[in-house]
Amino acid sequence: MHTPVQIDSPLDAASRAELESRYADLCSQGLKINMTRGVPSPEQLALAKRFLSLPGESDFVSRDGVDWRNYGGLQGMPEVRELFSEALLGLPADYVAVGENSSLALMYEALSHAFRRGVPGSDQPWSEEAVVKFICPVPGYDRHFSICDEFRIEMLPVPMLDSGPDMDIVEALVAGDPSIKGMWCVPKYSNPCGTTYTDVTVERLAAMAAAAPDFRLFWDNAYAVHHLSDEATPNQDITGRCAAAGHPNRAFVFASTSKIVLPGAGLAFFGSSPENLAWWLERRKHRTIGPDKVNQLRHLLFFGDADGLTQHMRAHSTLLAPKFACVDRAFAQAFGDTGSARWTRPAGGYFISLDITPGCAKRTVELAKQAGIALTPAGATHPGGRDPHDANIRISPSYVDLDTLAKASHGTALCAQLAAAEIR
Ligand code: PMP
Repeated sequence: MHTPVQIDSPLDAASRAELESRYADLCSQGLKINMTRGVPSPEQLALAKRFLSLPGESDFVSRDGVDWRNYGGLQGMPEVRELFSEALLGLPADYVAVGENSSLALMYEALSHAFRRGVPGSDQPWSEEAVVKFICPVPGYDRHFSICDEFRIEMLPVPMLDSGPDMDIVEALVAGDPSIKGMWCVPKYSNPCGTTYTDVTVERLAAMAAAAPDFRLFWDNAYAVHHLSDEATPNQDITGRCAAAGHPNRAFVFASTSKIVLPGAGLAFFGSSPENLAWWLERRKHRTIGPDKVNQLRHLLFFGDADGLTQHMRAHSTLLAPKFACVDRAFAQAFGDTGSARWTRPAGGYFISLDITPGCAKRTVELAKQAGIALTPAGATHPGGRDPHDANIRISPSYVDLDTLAKASHGTALCAQLAAAEIR
């Protein structure tokens, strides 16, 4: 199903011996670089220093009269929902609930509820279905795939294009198979391609016919405000479009402040239609008396208002943008215009997706590891960890400093060239 990466021309003329000699030099540098996951750098974490001393001894009582120190507030403080709902989910505050710290945990939870109880529109709990399938755009996010594994959901890979998932394939699959209950979407600055779904793609996802009456888009807006320049790509109005197309309950929208303040200490959000939100809160009330409102208050005091959030994200982008440029420069220098590799130049997010000569990704990651550069395992961007073309590598430039990143990027490119030379 997944169309192979087309590499236009063979590798440059550097001989295998020369590549091997350069690789020996690389290995002799004693590098110890970890680029396996896209985590914020220490400098980014330092941006949230003041966050650690909040909320202090505030005597704040939220507008709806809930004492933030006590139980309650299942949907989350209205002030906090107002601060984040438009920016992170593209939804009014009324259609959003605050969860705990992790959006991934909320995605897992939504599936748990669906499997136990079904979602609005279900004939039965998803656990009663003979098989449940999800569409998984590839390259995609490995943790979405591992959630599917955990629920024994069959994954159907669909290739990502520059416009988002290949909608001709998605429409045909979803219309023809009632066991397809959902689809993972990272619609903005996607992991790992950095792709933002176009208006046409969003419209087609909202309007397409689905054989399953309870089909859901799991709309993971993890990178909503993670722009790499002052040019902010707006949120897509997926719920509005679904409603307009007659599918008001189609989208479950998720986001968090993990990569805004501190991963593990952020706030996670679920947003959707009124009916889905009521379903969510109804299910949730059995598992919690209310989320951590101290952390909600901490966020409120830290950001103040939407402008505070924008300024904070600018500071992140000032630290991150040079790193994306560094990888781009290194790859351009190493691969030139030989057509031996392709990589994305995202306008936001945390990742660059690198496609190299088919059959070489695993070997490249292995060579890099031997040289002291730990990359995301090859295949991780595909369901089951199997990239049928063994060509895609996720590059995570955020954590390491610029000098280290330059070394790692040149090193990775060299490993890709050597891996390709080995199979020539
Ligand atoms: N979704 C995507 C697409 C991500 O890249 C990440 C972080 N790597 C997450 C979700 C995790 O979010 P959280 O910390 O809110 O669980």
